[in-house]
Amino acid sequence: MITRVMADRRFVVHVTPEMILHSRIEDAIYFAGFLYVVIVLLIVLNTRLSARLRDVASLRCRFLQGMLYFAMLTVVVAVMEFPLTLYAAFIVPHQFDLTDQSFLAWLGDFGKGIGVNVVIGSLVAALALTGIRLFRRWWIALWIGSIPLIILGVVLTPWIIDPLFNKFEPLKDPVLRRDLLAEAARAGIHGSRVYQVDKSKQTKEMNAYVTGIGPSKRIVLWDTLLAKLDHDEILAVMGHEMGHYVLGHLWKGIAFGVVVSLVCFAIAQRLYEWGLARWGARWQVAGPADPAALPWLMLIAVVIAFVLSPVTNGFSRGLEHQADAYGLKLTHLNEPMASAFVKFAEDSKSDPNPPRFIEWWRYSHPSTQRRIDFVLGSGL
Ligand SMILES: [Zn+2]
Repeated sequence: MITRVMADRRFVVHVTPEMILHSRIEDAIYFAGFLYVVIVLLIVLNTRLSARLRDVASLRCRFLQGMLYFAMLTVVVAVMEFPLTLYAAFIVPHQFDLTDQSFLAWLGDFGKGIGVNVVIGSLVAALALTGIRLFRRWWIALWIGSIPLIILGVVLTPWIIDPLFNKFEPLKDPVLRRDLLAEAARAGIHGSRVYQVDKSKQTKEMNAYVTGIGPSKRIVLWDTLLAKLDHDEILAVMGHEMGHYVLGHLWKGIAFGVVVSLVCFAIAQRLYEWGLARWGARWQVAGPADPAALPWLMLIAVVIAFVLSPVTNGFSRGLEHQADAYGLKLTHLNEPMASAFVKFAEDSKSDPNPPRFIEWWRYSHPSTQRRIDFVLGSGL
């Protein structure tokens, strides 16, 4: 029985050389991108560009000085990273026909993204500098302070940030709406909000996700997914999304992040002060609370996050697998789920069977082939 289903062509990803090439390019961008960012931050420090930006931002109020410094740093770093961003986010998606977005529209989104980073980043940076100035063991203050900021971010992002880039509206299709609400009721989700978003502006790929906390909690379907999946495939994918919702994955993710970051902040303070004692004079940085030292703190954060990738992605893959299992128990739409996975892989031109190391290091979801095998063979 299972072998028959698995041999069905609908459940077999048609792997093309293009798909493999695209995935390997994405992998290369991921690893090279990490090195690129590290090099950019080292250049900013070693050419004393950071110290010069701090001198330009010479305001009496130290909080405002920190904000102004970080706003300028954000723009400088974005300009230095532009070649990589352009290649990764514009050239490659066009090369593989994954988007129709014009260069101007893309540049507009890119500019808006920098604007968001300037506003939020400069506030967070100034708060962090204040914590570093006030407390000897500032890693504890920063760790505690990060918790409400993360929660605030998850609550506010769907309300304030996401609508800057796309239009969100309640799901239009009345039949699908009715069936999704019935599915949600079976999952014990009441008063759920299901939105569709005009992602076709930016991409041909498809996706759906759960986000927000409390009043901003919602399930979002990209319009590309609505166009390419059939009715049952959408219900199957939504079973997975409802799994995230019912199993409290957003909260679990936040809790995991808070616990892991405790160790990270402790390590970060040691490395930060060690590096400043060693190279601070060369970078013309006055001390730990000097804004000009922030690129060093960012570099430490980037390296720690990179090294921890297998841990955070492993945790995420675990949750994704739980959501797959939940969706099947809720819907019993095994075959539509499998054919949806096939469409996801073919559509985004991604290798369903990446090298084990790549999956272990950087995949937030189990590989497509693993997921197909599970939904067809799990007996759920
Ligand atoms: Zn998921």
